[in-house]
Amino acid sequence: MFYQSGIMDALSDYESARYVIYGVPFDGTSSYRPGSRWGPDAFRRASSNFESYNPHFDVDFVDLDIHDIGNLETYASVDDTLRDLYNEVGSFVRDHKIPLMIGGEHSLTYPCVRACKEFAGDDFGVVVLDAHFDLREEFDGVKYNHASVSRHIIDDVSNNHVLLGVRSGTQEEWEFARKNGLKFYTPEYIKKQGLKTIISEIIKYLDCEHLYLSLDMDAIDPAYAPATGTPEPFGLDPIDVREIIHNLAPISLGFDVMEIAPDYDYGQTAILGAKLMREFIAAHSSGRK
Ligand code: MN
Ligand code: MN
Repeated sequence: MFYQSGIMDALSDYESARYVIYGVPFDGTSSYRPGSRWGPDAFRRASSNFESYNPHFDVDFVDLDIHDIGNLETYASVDDTLRDLYNEVGSFVRDHKIPLMIGGEHSLTYPCVRACKEFAGDDFGVVVLDAHFDLREEFDGVKYNHASVSRHIIDDVSNNHVLLGVRSGTQEEWEFARKNGLKFYTPEYIKKQGLKTIISEIIKYLDCEHLYLSLDMDAIDPAYAPATGTPEPFGLDPIDVREIIHNLAPISLGFDVMEIAPDYDYGQTAILGAKLMREFIAAHSSGRK
């Protein structure tokens, strides 16, 4: 069940919408700095700052069919929250909508990827932008923890998986990634090789018609995005993240912006996250880079 609404330029009703924006104010497994439950509301406030026209794609948001369905009602239990989320996102994709989630912590990505994969079939890939591997089997005794989201996606949904911006993990996670030939790119490697090369390499590697794109905001350098649950220095540049989104949005079935915990800055992380969501919508709607 959803309640409350109101992102700027989300003017469509559900039936006529192509894009459905939904918030999930849940941070129940956050281990270091909780507070991403306040992310969706901060994100909506930040979004009202922007002009509706996107010059890069020459599109105006008032001409697009965008619906803000509000925030998902959550439970204290992560399992109950993920179950409801899976059911809701499943109905969005079956209604041929593009689901766009505002987090909330990163554990919430797993049911969305699963719902999109079940709709898309096997011709499917996943791209996660994250400072962290999130490859633990469980954390603090909780299986579906924010620190294990990529692990469960790889184990249970799809191993056609790429991680961008990763620079932090336990020794076991680095070993797991190397032993299993996981495709991951650190920020310094991306800088050295050049972003264009990396983007064409990952599109070739994934070789799929549809993908799910997930942005854990801590992938971006904390100088630009300080208000996250687990900030990590030496991150990606926001203009590079925009470029990645521009290139991958046209083949994405779903997208999310996760881990904004707005109490830890003056609004800049929510402003950047909201802008990147709008860049995704503009790129997806135009179908070109
Ligand atoms: Mn994460
Ligand atoms: Mn992270």
